[in-house]
Amino acid sequence: MIQDSGIASLLRKNIRLLKPYASARNEYSGDARIFLDANENYRGFTSHQVNRYPDPLQRELKEKLAALRGCTPHQIFLGNGSDEAIDLIIRAFAEPGSDKAVIMPPTYGVYQVFADLNDIETIRMPLQEDFSLDLEGLSILFEHRDFAGDLKLLFVCSPNNPTGNAFPHGDILRLVNSFPGIVVIDEAYQDFHDGPSNLSLIEKYSNVIVLQTFSKAWGMAGARVGMAYGSPEIIRVLNTIKYPYNVSVLSQQAALEALDHAEEVVREIDVIREAREKLSRSLAELPYVEKVYPSEANFLLVKTIHAAGLCSSLKQQGIIIRNREHEYRCSGCVRITVGSSEENRMLLDALQSITLEKERT
Ligand SMILES: *Cc1c(COP(=O)(O)O)cnc(C)c1O
Repeated sequence: MIQDSGIASLLRKNIRLLKPYASARNEYSGDARIFLDANENYRGFTSHQVNRYPDPLQRELKEKLAALRGCTPHQIFLGNGSDEAIDLIIRAFAEPGSDKAVIMPPTYGVYQVFADLNDIETIRMPLQEDFSLDLEGLSILFEHRDFAGDLKLLFVCSPNNPTGNAFPHGDILRLVNSFPGIVVIDEAYQDFHDGPSNLSLIEKYSNVIVLQTFSKAWGMAGARVGMAYGSPEIIRVLNTIKYPYNVSVLSQQAALEALDHAEEVVREIDVIREAREKLSRSLAELPYVEKVYPSEANFLLVKTIHAAGLCSSLKQQGIIIRNREHEYRCSGCVRITVGSSEENRMLLDALQSITLEKERT
């Protein structure tokens, strides 16, 4: 039961009262000689050491991550991708059928899907034409009496997917100070961004959760490891409601190994950022490209005269990009991930061989 925190009043009642499942490895985690407590097999049959259950609280990984990020392990939740954290945050704070989540399209589609899945209505406050935050609209929304007490979650994706821009720290701070519920700041692409992370906000604001991930800059999308940073009270709640062994032994090992290569990761981020700028300039010269949006991430949002036509022409040459034309304010847009220098060159070769006609509407 959560008693000591400022967030208790924001939690759903059943979550506040939940008695957590105590797994064998939760009950005992020290160094013993013989473990006969979890019904594991004493031997495994693969080359990986997976016959034992993983540490349910991923302590070693959190220690290392905390040192890198300048926080404490008690401020870190680790999940099966940050997607798991998004789902758990919704389930912890938003009462199905009555509470609401605010999203700002065009943005990451998972917020909407997980809200729908949990029967949480989403209130959409679109970004402005230049993809900046509609601060005025948001502030009117936060104070609207129709929603009094129901606005539980605000999802802010910065740098934003699929637009690529990051929101100024000052703007985000304004939202944190004025939103009546939990502000989730998704920093999946922060590693590629020059500006400051919003992570430091968790020290002062108990209603802030910052998401990061090993999936993008750290090159570990296949391992599924994501982080949520927040006050120890929030982290305790997420740990209480997660699957008991939510991050596998293999994934924890891979993340520990990746952290040993932090300097290499940082160098590669520089390479990707440079390639992004180069790719951006080349794309802007194509006759059917109307605009390449500035990006603080490892992808580019590109406005073309015919998004679907471009995607299918590239597909014929074995190159897959993402059509985003149906996202709000994204007509004609595709999203292109920055690849290796060879992949980018092959992409440009293919693009130069394509002729496109304006889509008839
Ligand atoms: C890729 C991405 C994620 C990360 O998802 P994982 O589950 O950690 O792989 C989160 N948010 C956004 C905006 C993303 O684009």
